[in-house]
Amino acid sequence: MNEAGDMEFNAAQSAGAAALDRDWVHRAIELLQCDGRRSADTHLINPAFPALKGLSIYLKDESTHPTGSLKHRLARSLFLYGICNGHIGQGTTLVEASSGSTAVSEAYFARLLGLPFIAVMPRSTSRAKVDAIERMGGRCTFVDEPARVYEVAAGIARETNGHYLDQFTNAERATDWRGNNNIAESIFRQMAGEPHPAPQWVVMSAGTGGTAATIGRYIRYQNLSTRLCVADVENSVFFDAYRQSDCAITSSRPSRIEGVGRPRVEPSFVPGVIDCMLRVPDAASIAAAHVLSERLFRRVGGSTGTNFMALLWIAARMLREGRQGSLVTLICDSGDRYASTYYDPDWLAAQGMDIAPLKARIESFLDTGTGLDDLF
Ligand SMILES: *Cc1c(COP(=O)(O)O)cnc(C)c1O
Repeated sequence: MNEAGDMEFNAAQSAGAAALDRDWVHRAIELLQCDGRRSADTHLINPAFPALKGLSIYLKDESTHPTGSLKHRLARSLFLYGICNGHIGQGTTLVEASSGSTAVSEAYFARLLGLPFIAVMPRSTSRAKVDAIERMGGRCTFVDEPARVYEVAAGIARETNGHYLDQFTNAERATDWRGNNNIAESIFRQMAGEPHPAPQWVVMSAGTGGTAATIGRYIRYQNLSTRLCVADVENSVFFDAYRQSDCAITSSRPSRIEGVGRPRVEPSFVPGVIDCMLRVPDAASIAAAHVLSERLFRRVGGSTGTNFMALLWIAARMLREGRQGSLVTLICDSGDRYASTYYDPDWLAAQGMDIAPLKARIESFLDTGTGLDDLF
């Protein structure tokens, strides 16, 4: 201010991402909200296992979302997060590193908003998922080494002046962990009238780690006594990282259970909210998926088998200790996507997996309540 009291103002408008067309942003948010309104809540299934006395098992069925997996929730959140942060606007090319399910859901939302979408994925990704992405107008780029998906995706986003959605970093922060109809709030609301409304345990496997983070934070925020068990798989680093408190561990081998198990500790993995971790052998995950599919009269995916196996391990311990209560886990996606892998005897044989003895033990446990004590 000079002596005469004049004031000098400066105004600027960003030439970059912040100069987004606000009309487009309005319309995009509206379209995402409409998708949310058209969606019903997912079922919390309560199959009866009378031999597991005093225990009630609940399965939150995320396979019924329009894009077939729990990643429908994540993709919607990542799009809202990107738009509200000014990173996604009209014409922005979207890029993601994904082992499949996330890219299917993101391709759906990209098409809804008329945006180009490129998925970077390991070559081992199932054909059914690649087809689903391409049918929704997305493009797929393959890498041989799973650990390279991140840098390749970030590189394509830079080259196209696009946006790297980066589920592995943003999953835990794009989801409203206090509520707003997140998966945890939905589960606990649906449990309200059950005989044991606060589950003893919620069990979840980890891909991004985002779902486990949301559930674990919500349990603390709501001051519940429920505990969170995260189930890991072979060739994944989450279990060792948790046990050794070392987030620098890496692995060079890909997970065989699609959607879960990672070669590095993802930024969205929040160990501080986890009460216990288990590592489930892949053959046990697949055997459990087969048994659960037969009991539910429809196929579930491999990671659902991981969840179910870990839940049964906890159930076996609770029975042995004479404890009662409810146990909750997720059906992450449908087994229809894995007809040529987990449900193909030739694929199982090529992996050197004989799941028959494990299936028999799981079935026997479900029918008698005994026989799993020494499994892990
Ligand atoms: C992503 C995914 C998971 C794990 O969920 P996160 O929230 O990413 O940890 C489990 N199963 C399937 C099929 C998935 O796609």
